[in-house]
Amino acid sequence: MIEIVTQREVDLFIDKVDMKTASGCWVWQGAIRRWSREPWDGGYGAFWFRGRVVRAHIFAHWWLFGQVPQGKVLLHSCDNRRCVNVVDHVRPGTQSQNIRDMVEKGRARNRHMVQG
Ligand SMILES: [Zn+2]
Repeated sequence: MIEIVTQREVDLFIDKVDMKTASGCWVWQGAIRRWSREPWDGGYGAFWFRGRVVRAHIFAHWWLFGQVPQGKVLLHSCDNRRCVNVVDHVRPGTQSQNIRDMVEKGRARNRHMVQG
């Protein structure tokens, strides 16, 4: 596992990120891909890193905080999968937390639709 990234790699990364958004999101401008068949695992940014493709928000975490803790995944509080703002919007959490979040937000959206 790679934890230490070089300044050159960070420069290449930042080149593809728009940090000046009203929402505070750091929006990935590069490629987006579906990573697996899991419903939660699509739409994340793809960053070419040392001969392989990594999720852009995970790279951002390596850059600023190092390795994602064992057993944790990175969760987006802003619901924007292209967001790589690991300072304010993307935090380590558990996968079950992630799924619970999605269900709760889905319910909230449905409720809103019924009322609205
Ligand atoms: Zn965000």
